Amino acid sequence: MHSTQPMGFTLFHAMADIQAKTTYRSWPEIEAMLTAPHASALSHKSNLPLFSPWAYKDVADPTVVKGNDADGKPLKFFSRTHVRRIKENLVEMTMLVLDYDGGSPLDQLIKIFSKWEHVGYTTLNHREEGKDKARIVLPLATSMSVADFEQLAEVIKAWATDLGADPSTADIGRMFILPAVREEHRHLAQSWHHKGPFLDWRMFRDMPTPVVVPKIAAVNPFNRQGRLRKLLPGGVIETANGHIAVRDITRKISNVRCPFHTDPEPSEFVNITARGTPFLVCKRCGTVYMERAKSDGIVDGIAQILAKKKQREGGV
Ligand SMILES: [Zn+2]
Repeated sequence: MHSTQPMGFTLFHAMADIQAKTTYRSWPEIEAMLTAPHASALSHKSNLPLFSPWAYKDVADPTVVKGNDADGKPLKFFSRTHVRRIKENLVEMTMLVLDYDGGSPLDQLIKIFSKWEHVGYTTLNHREEGKDKARIVLPLATSMSVADFEQLAEVIKAWATDLGADPSTADIGRMFILPAVREEHRHLAQSWHHKGPFLDWRMFRDMPTPVVVPKIAAVNPFNRQGRLRKLLPGGVIETANGHIAVRDITRKISNVRCPFHTDPEPSEFVNITARGTPFLVCKRCGTVYMERAKSDGIVDGIAQILAKKKQREGGV
């Protein structure tokens, strides 16, 4: 790809923005956008503008999927100008974006990616807990179709993980917050541009496919009688902004994918009760609470050890 050739990607106003329309710009223009001074993050993280390295179908494309209404019926009309932000409307990925959430210092990142053309910028929580947090954007030599991406997704994830990146950053259609910083941290914000050859994604074809351990059903929808739906503490819930373990839900999270029915667009929410029990509210499945353990394994274990010790001391 010539660096002046337009590359498709998509800009979003906020996390909840479900309207997608591809923007076409040359890499030098994208590079300038990503290395411009960080925007002021005055509002909550979910209200900051984002980009996706994916191009979406044009609104005139007859294969556009409009999605369903709240009752699950296909929508007749969505928008005259935009398509719905769902996987079915993705066309191709033009950049590979990798997130580093504290695992590697910035100078190490610059070194790791120095063999490729790339931009890096510090993210909102940079230097929190004393750690460097940054995003690396690598333009691709040729764009990658949805089919190619899906075929190589596990290879890309393994490669990203080997380089210390957050594996979820290779999720299809993911959005990333554009450079933003809270004013009190402005002096810490950094971005850089490194010149080099564009990454050729075909290199992933030569890498071995990692052995994928089959996922244990993250959320078991049935109890032993095959009826009750329960969230399990160790279950993992998919959200528009990544994955979260059920037990780690501590506040309301919107744009959650219901694990109990085929939910193509994450639009449900989870929250916690006053007593701290996570629950999911789905328009179709109703309200589903997290299963409460009948006993706490660790506490029970300690109690048993103490009881045995007592027995021994008592000479029984
Ligand atoms: Zn549901």
